[in-house]
Amino acid sequence: MTAQLIDGKAFAASVREKVSTHVAQIAETHGVTPGLAVVLVGEDPASEVYVRSKGKQTVEVGMNSFEYKLSAETSEEALLELIETLNADTSVHGILVQLPLPAHLNESLVINAIDPAKDVDGFHISNVGLLGTGQKSMVPCTPLGCLMMLRDYHGSLSGLNAVVIGRSNIVGKPMAQLLLGDSCTVTIAHSRTKDLPEVVRRADIVVAAVGRPHFVQGDWVKPGATVIDVGINRIPAPEKGLRDDGSVKTRLVGDVDFDAAVSVAGAITPVPGGVGPMTIACLLANTLTACCRAHGFAEPEGLTA
Ligand code: NAD
Repeated sequence: MTAQLIDGKAFAASVREKVSTHVAQIAETHGVTPGLAVVLVGEDPASEVYVRSKGKQTVEVGMNSFEYKLSAETSEEALLELIETLNADTSVHGILVQLPLPAHLNESLVINAIDPAKDVDGFHISNVGLLGTGQKSMVPCTPLGCLMMLRDYHGSLSGLNAVVIGRSNIVGKPMAQLLLGDSCTVTIAHSRTKDLPEVVRRADIVVAAVGRPHFVQGDWVKPGATVIDVGINRIPAPEKGLRDDGSVKTRLVGDVDFDAAVSVAGAITPVPGGVGPMTIACLLANTLTACCRAHGFAEPEGLTA
């Protein structure tokens, strides 16, 4: 058996298309353009790449992008003041503070200073509580993207056994809440789980969010199961040759041993080109949702949990 590939790149393009159409509609009908403010503190190269990509895609779907680049030495007080200003700015519907923050800044204090209605990352404690109690909230982008792909592939998820490997606040826990919301029987596995292969073998749906290359083995996967690989790991790729500085080139791999799992699973997301592209698409969807809620406009279908 060869698993069906779940094409996150194509799916993300369809989400952006939907967002773009709805953005054009509300601009024409109501004269409102959704706006996303992204705040980057410091010069972390990976974060700079993410922020650039977010800004570019925000503009491409017709929304306003506001970027704030602050020095690594920015004080907590100055950052909180900027967040207050953005909270009060009616042209800003979504606020994202790029993580991780430099060590001297208290991450949870900063995140919880964001107006929960503008918290498009879904990390504010109010949104975490709303999601946990099954109420309307802003949903973290990566798990939301995984849920969209699962719903698209399965239709109903009701009654399926789902195993989420990883219990982080940004992926594992919200993913489990979302699957529970769709009536899956959910197991959260983590670094202390006993006999993980056996736990995974019971799953109709496996979501791997561990951060270890090729961690989930092919023979852990139940034949026909759906495998969602959230992991993004960079490993040496000597087959690609050397860089100009003599170092070995690298490539991205997921948390699942794809080559082995693809012949057992019913469907699987590749890395790259699976969950990754969905994350920014869902950030745009969340910004549109936040704008619609702020103004009382009808929300687009299929872009929220
Ligand atoms: P994290 O380090 O916060 O959490 C990892 C989790 O894995 C922990 O809960 C831990 O209990 C679990 N774990 C570690 N070792 C384990 C083991 N031996 N057995 C079982 N569980 C184990 O990581 P995270 O932020 O949740 O991210 C996980 C992965 O997803 C990373 O590779 C990250 O880069 C990737 N990620 C991708 C996206 C995306 O857009 N595609 C977004 C966020 C994170």
